[in-house]
Amino acid sequence: MTHVPKTFTDSFGRIIRDLRISLTDRCNFRCLYCLPETEEAANFFRTRRSETATPIPYVWKPRVNLLTYEEIERVTRIAVAHGVEKIRLTGGEPLLRRDVPALVARLAAIDGLKDLALTTNGFHFVEQAEALRKAGLRRVTISLDSLERDNFTKLTGRDALDTVLKAIRLARDLGFHPLRVNAVIIRHLNDHEIESLAEFARAENIALRYIEFMPLDSRRAWQMEHVVPAREILARLQARHALEPVVADSKSATATRWRFADGRGEVGFIAPVSEPFCGHCNRLRLTADGKIRTCLFSLHEHDLKAQLRDGANAADDETVAAWLRGVILHKEARHHIGEEGFQQPDRPMSAIGG
Ligand code: SAM
Ligand code: SF4
Repeated sequence: MTHVPKTFTDSFGRIIRDLRISLTDRCNFRCLYCLPETEEAANFFRTRRSETATPIPYVWKPRVNLLTYEEIERVTRIAVAHGVEKIRLTGGEPLLRRDVPALVARLAAIDGLKDLALTTNGFHFVEQAEALRKAGLRRVTISLDSLERDNFTKLTGRDALDTVLKAIRLARDLGFHPLRVNAVIIRHLNDHEIESLAEFARAENIALRYIEFMPLDSRRAWQMEHVVPAREILARLQARHALEPVVADSKSATATRWRFADGRGEVGFIAPVSEPFCGHCNRLRLTADGKIRTCLFSLHEHDLKAQLRDGANAADDETVAAWLRGVILHKEARHHIGEEGFQQPDRPMSAIGG
């Protein structure tokens, strides 16, 4: 009898431990690095002559195409039974989906799931925070790219800085821990805020993650010169603060982390462009319309929804697991950002699930 491994392992021996599930491709923000559809975003990229490619003509998926909560729960159970330990709910903006606490409660009850987290822009967090917490959510990541009202509006397309700050403080007060705040840094846009974002992390005692801008924007306007490499940010912070490295919990952690030697708060760097971590990648993505992506930069998707839904031919759990095993075997070795011939995926970050 052939030996079938209990875990989902790719052809490079990487075991999948982390599944990111997008709840919707829709969003109420228009971040300049994700869905740059505002006049401000157009102006920013036009003046930097980075309108070189055709924008992605993105059409929102009809709701009937979205996986139901029952389907998401089923996939999660199958994944956890095969070694997945961590689920992150994302989008688009996940809190635009109806009754997310109901989904959280279903997932939190799955035996063997060690970590359940949510990434949100924070706009609808305040009204749902307590219900999410009661349902069993322990961890949230909230995006915050600017502390200046006008710049925040330019970056996100929404005049919502105060709402997002309220969300971050409430998340901390309700005990979501560790509380992460994500900031995508773009040269000539918010790189002057690097130091103030670090001060914010200290003052509020939170973990801030600086993220490098990746070529996943719907305008396809990304250029290497917009990227502020993590090591440049670190050098700027070290010029002001004594920072001590924090040992990562696992080899596949995406962020390199530093704490302030004199007290509260932490900063971290997610540097997929300047310091790729593909060799340790243990992630898999499920889009809101039920496609499996084995890499953020995959050019092909695999139709899991067809496996789950195909009427009388709908697969049982074992068949779904065998199908997933076959898909995962072909997980890409690495991305090719910055190389000759690099091709941006057809869908932007909001539709893939960040
Ligand atoms: N809407 C939620 C939010 O913004 O937090 C969740 C989805 S969003 C796609 C997840 C994360 O991806 C956010 O922290 C966002 O800053 C990041 N992101 C989006 N586009 C990106 C890009 N082109 N490069 C790097 N990070 C990006
Ligand atoms: Fe911004 Fe997240 Fe919406 Fe993309 S999905 S536009 S990053 S809020």
